[in-house]
Amino acid sequence: MIEAYTLFSGSSGNCIYIKNGEDEILIDAGKSAGAIEKALSLIGSSLRRISAIFVTHEHSDHTSGLEIISKKYQIPIHITAPSYTRVAYNGSFTSRFAISHEVHYEHRVGSLSLRSFEIPHDSAQNVGYIIECEGERLGIATDMGHITEEIKCSLCGCKTAIIESNHDKFLLVAGPYPEFLKHRILADTGHLANEDSAELSLFLAKNGTESITLAHLSKENNAPEIAFSAHRDALDRHGYASVDVNVARPAEIVRVK
Ligand SMILES: [Zn+2]
Ligand SMILES: [Zn+2]
Repeated sequence: MIEAYTLFSGSSGNCIYIKNGEDEILIDAGKSAGAIEKALSLIGSSLRRISAIFVTHEHSDHTSGLEIISKKYQIPIHITAPSYTRVAYNGSFTSRFAISHEVHYEHRVGSLSLRSFEIPHDSAQNVGYIIECEGERLGIATDMGHITEEIKCSLCGCKTAIIESNHDKFLLVAGPYPEFLKHRILADTGHLANEDSAELSLFLAKNGTESITLAHLSKENNAPEIAFSAHRDALDRHGYASVDVNVARPAEIVRVK
């Protein structure tokens, strides 16, 4: 059975830990090697036990720990070619352990099968992942400018899903961010608002998802209670009260059911 935890979530850093038996992987490493190692130790693991890291995209909140981790622990790092070119160009990460690949990519780590799919975002490329193990599927999709058919088709049928619920539109528009940043976040290639994410939750619930964890919440333009209510209300209103909703808080390790 897949075990998954969000170790860090949000614009200050993202990292998801996934395990089945001896097979342990990370999705993103957007915190320092020390911070990730400390978080892993709290759930009985260590970077020494991680077999591979899969990177959604090149933004620093998903990649800032990669350089040190790859040097110190020599873990294979799977990243799309455009994102790898961008981090290498920026000088923020190069490694002989990097495996650059196309947007649609399949890879197996022991008992875990991974498949990537494309997500629109203002990065060189951005992907989500479906992780399959013993007939059970976990879907991960964050940094979503908007919901596409590809995202819906990919996540459809996942028993468990980790999806972005970034901001409350009203808080964002009324808040202190400069206009250019508000436009960036609200754009089709920015981040996903609670109400749009709740619509995705509803679609997933209709297609068999039993547990949804809300991730990449904005610290300034959202609150765990607001995001939770947006999803809970939408699901309850349509008869999906049995679907679990969890919130991945930025500095808290959250077990994904
Ligand atoms: Zn991003
Ligand atoms: Zn991000």
